[in-house]
Amino acid sequence: MLDFSFSEDHEEFQKTLSTFARRELLPGYTARSASSEFPFALLKKIGDLGVLGIGLPERFGGTGEDDPVLLGIASEALAYGDVNLASAPIQVGLVGAQLLHGTEEVQQRYLPPVIAGEENLAIALTEPESGSDASALRTTARRVAGGWLLNGEKTAISWAMSASAALIYAREEGTTRSSGVSCFVVDLASEGVAVRHMIGMGCLPLGWGSITLDGVFVPDSHLIGEEGRGFQVAMNHFDFSRAAIGLMCLGAAEQSLEEAALYATQRSTFGKPISEYQGVSFPLAEQATYIEGARWVCYRALWLRQQDRPHTSLASMSKWWAPVVAKDAIEASMKIHGNLGYSAEFPLQQRFRDVMAYLVADGTAEIQKGIISKEILARKTVSL
Ligand SMILES: Cc1cc2nc3c(=O)[nH]c(=O)nc-3n(C[C@H](O)[C@H](O)[C@H](O)COP(=O)(O)OP(=O)(O)OC[C@H]3O[C@@H](n4cnc5c(N)ncnc54)[C@H](O)[C@@H]3O)c2cc1C
Repeated sequence: MLDFSFSEDHEEFQKTLSTFARRELLPGYTARSASSEFPFALLKKIGDLGVLGIGLPERFGGTGEDDPVLLGIASEALAYGDVNLASAPIQVGLVGAQLLHGTEEVQQRYLPPVIAGEENLAIALTEPESGSDASALRTTARRVAGGWLLNGEKTAISWAMSASAALIYAREEGTTRSSGVSCFVVDLASEGVAVRHMIGMGCLPLGWGSITLDGVFVPDSHLIGEEGRGFQVAMNHFDFSRAAIGLMCLGAAEQSLEEAALYATQRSTFGKPISEYQGVSFPLAEQATYIEGARWVCYRALWLRQQDRPHTSLASMSKWWAPVVAKDAIEASMKIHGNLGYSAEFPLQQRFRDVMAYLVADGTAEIQKGIISKEILARKTVSL
């Protein structure tokens, strides 16, 4: 039987988070977004709501139960207030899922503070010569007594400026493609690490940057998972982050559309509210329709993950389509606001710039469409 409803617990959680997002995050969003300073005080509050440990072990402060749908609800609801901070549960989810393959020492060191919202960890896969083609990475890990020496450069890394450590993917010298790539957790205060800020058109508080590694020693205990299998472990987790990113972008769009609807009833031209013109009300209807469609693609991907059923294609659909739908809905909301939509004093233009990041981050639309089409073409079945 079909059932599109959330559980009572999910509804309750959604209500708590959307209230928190609109009361605590929304009022300062525009001002915060103009600064590169990471808002740790707010991250701590988000941590206190239990949102940063979804699916991570209770002994480290997590919720214990793996519930990808809950992660989607959190990402969507927090984005009503601040789409940048709404990415925190996704980032911690991705980082945490990988740290669980690490040693007890590493888990003890990093999981409690990231789940509490006291520290950030970055995920550093992309390099100047390899983004979409991630397995072409060149950073090397050379075995030495007691650990490894890492050399290379990572670029376009979110959270780099505020992170205390990063998950770094590096290959054994002489290996190619995904084989021979290991994942290491590297303290960014280590000797030989240099972090440089990169300024983007949005997402400033997320501290985008490059990380250069010049003979950085990483102890044995900081290998995450099996040696040479780091790439496969990372790829497995992108399926839930992609759907949650889609919902996060849609959360920002839903908020924008609500603001546009309210504004349309308050602003009058030629003697009547602009909401009475179909040129204004129909875009609201159209964007609400696209958002509704994209939301259920994302939630279905997360629901399938919860059921342990295949969801890679749906995750890729969520990742390429939802950010486009969100961007278009925010743009429509800006237009309804007239000149105010363009004003830096209003959050709309900021959301537009922040959401644009996800057209590229975590895999471009072209890469996602490649994944989807591969699956379609592999079916090779024709029923007449
Ligand atoms: C805001 C932001 C945050 C990011 N955060 C992180 C992070 O935290 N950690 C991290 O590791 N990386 C991060 N990235 C990097 C991101 O994952 C890469 O930028 C992305 O994977 C694309 O890689 P690229 O920039 O090298 O583009 P390229 O791979 O060089 O692609 C350039 C263009 O060619 C297209 N293209 C490439 N190959 C194909 C193909 N086979 N078929 C069709 N089209 C193709 C792409 O779609 C794109 O349009 C971030 C990027 C952004 C913008």
